[in-house]
Amino acid sequence: MRDQLDTYISEQAERWTGELRELCAIPSEATDPAALRHAADWCEQRLGAAGCGTRQIGMDDVPPLVVGETGSGKRTLIGVQHYDVQPAVPLELWTTPPYDPAVRDGAMYARGVDDNKGHLLLRIQAVEAYRAVFGELPIRMRFLIEGEEESGSASLGRLLATDVALTDGDGALKEGGSVDSSGRPQLLLGGKGILYAELRVRTLARDAHSGGATHLPNAAWRLVDALSTLMDVRGRVRIQGFYDDVRGPSAEERAQVAALPFDADEVKRIYGLRGFAFGRGNTDVRLASQFEPTCNICGIVSGFIDDGTKTVIPAEASCKIDFRLVPDQDPERIAALVRAHLDRHGFGDIESVYKEGTRPYRGRRDDPLVRAVKAAAEEAFGKDAHLVPTSGGTSPMWTVCHRRALANVTLGMGHPGSGAHAPNENIILANYWKAIRATARLFSLYATQA
Ligand SMILES: [Zn+2]
Repeated sequence: MRDQLDTYISEQAERWTGELRELCAIPSEATDPAALRHAADWCEQRLGAAGCGTRQIGMDDVPPLVVGETGSGKRTLIGVQHYDVQPAVPLELWTTPPYDPAVRDGAMYARGVDDNKGHLLLRIQAVEAYRAVFGELPIRMRFLIEGEEESGSASLGRLLATDVALTDGDGALKEGGSVDSSGRPQLLLGGKGILYAELRVRTLARDAHSGGATHLPNAAWRLVDALSTLMDVRGRVRIQGFYDDVRGPSAEERAQVAALPFDADEVKRIYGLRGFAFGRGNTDVRLASQFEPTCNICGIVSGFIDDGTKTVIPAEASCKIDFRLVPDQDPERIAALVRAHLDRHGFGDIESVYKEGTRPYRGRRDDPLVRAVKAAAEEAFGKDAHLVPTSGGTSPMWTVCHRRALANVTLGMGHPGSGAHAPNENIILANYWKAIRATARLFSLYATQA
């Protein structure tokens, strides 16, 4: 049965699609300060048009935090979003240009349309819809829209610290959200943290003839030797103290994850695998992907790798590594442990450079917000929702939520082929309208949910 909310949403379809095109046409990549400012202003203006009180919190050269607030009631919900996007390169892999949004077969293609501009706009449009149909929101809704998420939210903590009331609330909507291949909403209750680091070593003043390999130290071997001490063949990280702060899953969380659908054969088919890494079986893969930290080599550079042969001893080698962290690991502490590990193993000559760190966060499942989001998602999408303890990716929820130990959850419309961070990023518009409905319904459900 269509109700007034459906009618309002369908009547705005054309105007709202136009707004989404407009926002996605702004190339707000980290390297373009003017575009970031433009996107921040655009968001502030749109929040105002939806009936929010707005302001921007600025600092030095940092992209501003856009704040919008509306509604009143006994509960406050914080919507955590970002207006910056991942770089669109390589451009030649896009069917249509990334900042010229295009609609094909019911899907909109543009950089950022899924992550995170579609999600941030639909939440603002949901406020507009609610106010148009029912009046003032029965909860306090506060949007926090930052511009540095795709590069690690480095300033968010400082921006939020300017006004402690910004993180006062009862629950948070985490950025994004998705449905699975059968259209069932996936509601994420947290995200992994990350430590991104670079290791570098120089063993010689200059590259040397490989005839000297009897006595001249090779930087590539030096780096490979050091890397091989970081993890064992079972995937267990060998850095002393690495697991000290890991909060293991509760029995309920384990059972919940074991019950999630997981198509192991499909994953193996996509990647051309005979078996999973570290000899992991299907159940173990599921649990590890939710609850285990990782040590991953992103890339290694050293010596001669062009066509042909060159017998050389490389003087320098470097690599980039990331550790995906789980609650309650702290990236700064892990970075110190990596340094201590290298020193203890005689690799004092290997330089380690801290590039980026974000803390992990996993909120509670037993919370009125989680129940209200589940009900809103199931009603709008017409399918049972899955509660997933954590995403494999990273977002700054710890920074927003830890002070009040807030529950946090996603409610969104991405799909398995959305291609976030990749060429031809897209959303399915039919899911977009459903997510607006779900979000507008959440405002009333959360106000009264026990
Ligand atoms: Zn994002």
